Amino acid sequence: MKIVLENLTKIFPSRNKKADDEVIAVNNFNFEIPDGKLIGLLGPSGCGKSTTLYMISGLQKPTSGRIYFGDDDVTEVSTENRGIGLVFQNYALYPHLTVKQNILFPLQNLKGEDKMTKEQMLERAYEAARLVQIDTLMERKPSELSGGQQQRVAIARALVKMPRVLLLDEPLSNLDARLRLQTREEIRRIQKETGITTVFVTHDQEEAMSISDMIVVMKTGIVQQIGKPQEVYDSPANLFVAKFLGTPPINVFEGSVKGEKLFIGDSAVMDVPGVADQEVMVGIRPEGFILDENGPLKCKLSNVEVMGRDVSVVSTHANSCNPMVRSIIDADNKVNPESDEVRYSLKKHKTFIFNKETEERIYVEVK
Ligand code: ADP
Ligand code: MG
Repeated sequence: MKIVLENLTKIFPSRNKKADDEVIAVNNFNFEIPDGKLIGLLGPSGCGKSTTLYMISGLQKPTSGRIYFGDDDVTEVSTENRGIGLVFQNYALYPHLTVKQNILFPLQNLKGEDKMTKEQMLERAYEAARLVQIDTLMERKPSELSGGQQQRVAIARALVKMPRVLLLDEPLSNLDARLRLQTREEIRRIQKETGITTVFVTHDQEEAMSISDMIVVMKTGIVQQIGKPQEVYDSPANLFVAKFLGTPPINVFEGSVKGEKLFIGDSAVMDVPGVADQEVMVGIRPEGFILDENGPLKCKLSNVEVMGRDVSVVSTHANSCNPMVRSIIDADNKVNPESDEVRYSLKKHKTFIFNKETEERIYVEVK
């Protein structure tokens, strides 16, 4: 089921009529979510992710804009009739019911031609439980389960009605690191197996990047960029997106363009054909530095951290916007930790420049 968001906008009016503090939680969101894909909705806290998800679910009504499931306009359709499965951060299971009863619950309220027999309901419940691998825990109460198991019950409960669309709002936030990793892979497996169009909300870029077919990066209610995770990482549309994706994060410098050369401080670090003279921000991915004893970018060496396969070189530079410059170098390259300087040349496809005021990307012809 494809989902179309058309000029989707949500404004929360000011509580105090005199104060001018209405919030545009979602601002003119346009996107066609392809059928059967998993979309990661990504951005910092407060950027409008949940509000977008709640509008898709019908829990919140858009201020303006339309939502389509397939060719059906569902903007005015109630949550119950949209055919969606919802999973929240806090599992919200009924504590007094067993796992089985929790999963059965959505089926017991079906009316009319959707009404099921007891046998049909049980079959469905076990099917959903098997999918998330909790079918051996059906007689337990939620309090007798780990966090990860509880979250799987919540997912099974969302799946049991065979929704057309699965909506997940930070479903892994309450799990510890290892379980988070395991459960996200599980969600991806289930999504692929069922082919249900899924929107997965998270503030964790790594989480979104690792399981999504496409990611949508949001900031203050406004979509910044939509694309395949690798494409967005490799070609960020603006400085915000560049900074939001990647661990360790991108290194940002103040720079300038003069005579089609990019300068950081007094050093010409790269040719930038076709770019007019101006002040810019420069983003360099940690893997974009090449150790080069004659390289143009000279940094003051602070520390060399060996991480097995790679070496992380920590240094400082007067024009860096961050306290530290961090590069990731293959461990075969030797950095003398006693030296007080480290010099780099830069990989062109890992170095991005941005307009200093708008922070929009300035695209450079790669020759
Ligand atoms: P996210 O899920 O990305 O953290 P939300 O969608 O929850 O962000 O919130 C987006 C913005 O809308 C925030 O500024 C938030 O304070 C505001 N907001 C969310 N829900 C309400 C509400 N019911 N009333 C007023 N403001 C709200
Ligand atoms: Mg939220």
